Amino acid sequence: MSATSESSAVSSSRVVEHPGHGESFTEHMISIDWTEGRGWSEARMTPLQELSVHPGMIGLHYGQVAYEGLKAHRRTDGSMGVWRPRDHALRFQRSCRRLAMPELPVETFVAAVDQLVLADESSLSGDPSHSIYLRPIMFGTDTSLMLRRSRNYRFLLMAFVAGGFFGDGIESVSVYASHTYSRAFPGGTGDVKIAGNYAPSFLAQREAEAAGCQQVLWLDAVERRYLEEMGGMNIFLVRGHGPQAQVVTPRLTGTLLPGITRDTILTLAERLGHQPVEERISLEQWRTECERGVMSEAFACGTAAVVTPVCTVVDRGTTWTIGDGKPGPVTLALRTALTDLHHGSAPDPDGWLH
Ligand code: PMP
Repeated sequence: MSATSESSAVSSSRVVEHPGHGESFTEHMISIDWTEGRGWSEARMTPLQELSVHPGMIGLHYGQVAYEGLKAHRRTDGSMGVWRPRDHALRFQRSCRRLAMPELPVETFVAAVDQLVLADESSLSGDPSHSIYLRPIMFGTDTSLMLRRSRNYRFLLMAFVAGGFFGDGIESVSVYASHTYSRAFPGGTGDVKIAGNYAPSFLAQREAEAAGCQQVLWLDAVERRYLEEMGGMNIFLVRGHGPQAQVVTPRLTGTLLPGITRDTILTLAERLGHQPVEERISLEQWRTECERGVMSEAFACGTAAVVTPVCTVVDRGTTWTIGDGKPGPVTLALRTALTDLHHGSAPDPDGWLH
């Protein structure tokens, strides 16, 4: 499928100097429709514009909405590189399948990403901590309040210029273990990226902020003991010190999102000589290992968060510190290895940078 541009009157792009996160939209968007019996339309690129939807649209009422988040970075040679778009396309297909929605072909997804990045790359400043965050989304567009799946869908791709998720620089974050709310449960939708997973997290996020933390740490819903992940990022722990340190992350149980960054970190850990370990680990075990000085570091990772050190845990009114409360060497080495790959300044044997 080739994309056609409907916009000839787009104003020249502006460089965004202080992008923040989520609001400095770029100038274009891409739309593709899926209609029952006819399948996918051609992709259309237009200026970013408001949508006109019927108030009885299925996606709005019943949450038939799946989305993705991926980034394009400026490489050291000045060209643009998109990080693992095929893997994001495959996860988008899985998310759509889970909501009984059609699956956008991987090639169509990647072509749309390429087209938007090329059209809007001039919004990106030369600051290497900035990137273009791409947001593909698909929703059911039928006008019906019958509780059923939609027969027609709209895919949209938009983008914003992203600075640091937690502000500029490498700050540590504190996490709040939620014992009141659960994010996901067996047989649910925790392992896919759908809009309905996120709104229910806002109340827990508010509770975390009231306790002085930046993020919620989700525990498993059945026993409320095992670490799962955070609001929009996976969690990693570092066990031990120096070259022998293990890089540990909760096993994919079906109730946490298989992050593309998580997968990358597991590979990079091994490449840096650390043993990558996926295990079921409880909050008590983590705390005990921290108190004994065995667990030395922790960090969160994701497309938006990149690699963000975690320094403090608040658990039912008690607070404990990880390591010396500062970003640790394994965390920082992994972060550098990842950002070097993003910018095309390290060998990329897996061909992740597109
Ligand atoms: N967990 C959740 C719940 C998320 O929303 C995200 C962001 N997509 C992640 C983890 C990290 O995934 P990724 O590395 O693919 O961005």
